[in-house]
Amino acid sequence: MSRDWGSLFDIDTDPEDLLEHFDTEWFRGQRYRHLNDERHGIERGTAVVSDVVVRGYPSMPRALVLEPAILETFDGPVAIEEKLNGYNVRVTRIDGDLLAFTRSGFVCPYTTRKVEALLEADAFFDDHPEHMLCGELVGPENPYTDHDYSEVEEVGFYVFGIRHRESGTPMGVERRLDQCATYGLDSVDHYGTYTPAAAIDAARERIDDLNARGREGIVLKSTDGETALKYTTSAIHRADLEHAFELPFDYGRDFVFTRVIREAFQAVERDEPPAAVRERAQALGEAILEPAVETIRAVDAGEPVGETHTVRGDPKIIDDLLSYFREQGLKLHIERDETDGDQRVVTFTKVAQSTRDKTRYYLEGGTLDE
Ligand code: ATP
Ligand code: MG
Repeated sequence: MSRDWGSLFDIDTDPEDLLEHFDTEWFRGQRYRHLNDERHGIERGTAVVSDVVVRGYPSMPRALVLEPAILETFDGPVAIEEKLNGYNVRVTRIDGDLLAFTRSGFVCPYTTRKVEALLEADAFFDDHPEHMLCGELVGPENPYTDHDYSEVEEVGFYVFGIRHRESGTPMGVERRLDQCATYGLDSVDHYGTYTPAAAIDAARERIDDLNARGREGIVLKSTDGETALKYTTSAIHRADLEHAFELPFDYGRDFVFTRVIREAFQAVERDEPPAAVRERAQALGEAILEPAVETIRAVDAGEPVGETHTVRGDPKIIDDLLSYFREQGLKLHIERDETDGDQRVVTFTKVAQSTRDKTRYYLEGGTLDE
């Protein structure tokens, strides 16, 4: 390699030790590497494409109780933004091509094509050639998530960060919003900037409103963009549980404890009377049990169970995407495969093999040692 990776990543370890953890992938005939797990303090999702380093988007802490967490985390002005529920995408321009990286640093052919079609980003990258746009991709036709936003008909990319791609250093919040406006890029909603004390009430009001509208939550950020804190609505806790317990043996265990804990602390911080706690408990129980019952019935009826998505695009891109999933060991069940003009439209299910196999086993009389 022609560059000094050690100094670039600013680590003490031998750069070879770090590079060894990178996986190799190909995009449009070009080899690149990406880091699937955090190593030596380098974020998961960091990628190296033709001598350019693209840092991963850092993971952020979550508040369980807003008031003390805000006061502990921030000692200066706090920006409050909406937290959208789609998937994290970083976009940058390398050798003249726009590339879209998923959270793990994979250059997703499908997302790259969507972003190319959606974004007018040339002017931005002409002026900021070494930056990346970090945003949430939302919309009904995508291969990863399925949360609906009424304002997004097909696909939307909402910027929540602009960072130097090699150092990961964020642009401050005000400047970022200003740049989005200048270059016509959509941004996540910004609800204002407050002192830490004032941010507590502002955050609570926003959460009430977002909860009533079934939306995910908020991210609070220091104005330099360096420190972030997330907090989510009861509505999304239930939606996550419903999703997880549609596939109980794949996701149930990991989801249930965290969401129950979030709900419990939220009820306490809001000082809810017994009737309100009971209502919360009932809704939580329904979110867990009802989808699990439906899934067991579906397996019993011989239907495929798993996450179903629809994707639309150039036949070659759709092919690449489906091959990638299969290489990852996913079993796909194609529900529908059609042509619409020069586009291929495929509805597929990522078969949840644990849920399918374990459910069948119990339905056929299999027993548990417990
Ligand atoms: P982690 O932060 O630990 O990686 P995770 O991958 O499960 O957790 P989430 O719980 O969804 O992710 O929270 C962080 C993610 O929220 C970000 O990676 C980003 O994709 C998304 N996000 C949505 N809106 C915003 C926003 N306004 N600011 C920052 N991130 C946002
Ligand atoms: Mg998310």
